[in-house]
Amino acid sequence: MIKHNLSTPISNTFLQTLKVIKDNGKGMVFVTDSDDILMGVLTDGDIRSALLKGVELDSPIEPHINRTFVFAYHSEPFSEILKKADDRIKIIPLVDETMKLIDYVEFSNKVYFPVATPELSGNELKYLTDAFLSTWISSQGKYIEEFEKKFSAYCDAKYGVAVSNGTTALHLALLALGIGEGDEVIVPDLTFAATINTVLHANATPVIVDIEKISWCIDPIEIEKAITPRTKAIIPVHLYGQPCNMDAIMAIAKKHNLKVIEDAAEAHGAEYKGKKVGSIGDIGCFSFYGNKVITTGEGGMCVTNSSKLANKMKILRDHGMSKTKKYWHDVVGYNYRLTNLQAAIGLAQLERIEEIQMKRSLLEKKYKDGLKSIKLLEFQKSDFPDRKKITWLVSALVKEGKRNLVMNQLKKINVDSRPFFYPLSSMKLYKPYVFSNKVSKNISKQGLNLPTSIFIDDQVISTIKKSLEELQ
Ligand SMILES: *Cc1c(COP(=O)(O)O)cnc(C)c1O
Repeated sequence: MIKHNLSTPISNTFLQTLKVIKDNGKGMVFVTDSDDILMGVLTDGDIRSALLKGVELDSPIEPHINRTFVFAYHSEPFSEILKKADDRIKIIPLVDETMKLIDYVEFSNKVYFPVATPELSGNELKYLTDAFLSTWISSQGKYIEEFEKKFSAYCDAKYGVAVSNGTTALHLALLALGIGEGDEVIVPDLTFAATINTVLHANATPVIVDIEKISWCIDPIEIEKAITPRTKAIIPVHLYGQPCNMDAIMAIAKKHNLKVIEDAAEAHGAEYKGKKVGSIGDIGCFSFYGNKVITTGEGGMCVTNSSKLANKMKILRDHGMSKTKKYWHDVVGYNYRLTNLQAAIGLAQLERIEEIQMKRSLLEKKYKDGLKSIKLLEFQKSDFPDRKKITWLVSALVKEGKRNLVMNQLKKINVDSRPFFYPLSSMKLYKPYVFSNKVSKNISKQGLNLPTSIFIDDQVISTIKKSLEELQ
């Protein structure tokens, strides 16, 4: 079955063929007979020269097609197919043993294996359509409550408050815990900027501390060193799916009477000593952005075991409006609501979260096994006794000074990769808040995320291996 518009019947005229080329935008067509057997190819250049020689537009293409062309068998390994591509040949037809056209591969400067792609193959469209047809497309409707109930249960937490994104989840958590001006909040140096930005949104003072070399997560020893009489909270970030050392963090929090907001935006379902992350601190914050483990397009959720905090967050999320007296406001609130449409997608994603995670962790295992011989790469640690990481983005450290080389090499085979976050301390904006940052600087410089999407298979990994072997 060919889903593309890249082929044209051999009985066609030049005019008909030109139309196909114009529609497919590829500058060429595969020419097939009535059984889909590949007979030749024709490029727009070939057509131009035929026309210049006086061939009529309505004459058949058959005598003019290229019958010697580059092709590959559908069953050939990707690395072999890749060898057939060059600067001139970028589209290679894939055929079966009878020369029947099955598919094609295209190599170009475009990236083929992006770092992340959402997986929407379950009930997403069905629930979304149902929400749409119900006309409850705004922030009321059955999917919101169901998504909150089921996602918080999945996280081993009693309450869920769905919000518009992971950033508003963090902000809402800080507000509900009463954190504001004059309060210090400890955050790790290596994280996505939303973690620190929300502390600033709350008018509190962030304090940036270093990470553990071994887990890349916030270092409890550094947390303790950074505590002052003004410290009110800690935001541990379960970075790239790895849980933080939560026993140590909770002990420090207890000793100094601090609140703990877990930033679990990258770690849905990860566990610390058998407990799901997000349910261990006072409030756990999740993101459902498109590249996260599960997605609602944009979206987020706060989970908590405290009914008081959950109610506070529900009021703040909805303009600060009283839940018993409509249009009555006792606090200055926000509009941080999620829509029923987004929650419908989220619910369908949640139904398959175990399956999605299994696929992701299997992929990580494939990378680790497949690239074992590549000594340039050291994959994220996954054998802590107390921590069960999940696979967000497959992450590795590249031998010092070699990261750009590796990224460029991957680009040649159309494999996207992404450097780790810059340490917050490296940006002028956040410099005034730095307490310690020695380890994070080095980890950030070496860190690389590899594509973690369903399109990566053994063959792609073997191509990656071959291309990185050249660098060793
Ligand atoms: C993605 C992310 C966020 C923010 O989530 P959004 O939904 O994009 O607002 C916060 N913290 C971390 C660690 C993240 O990775």
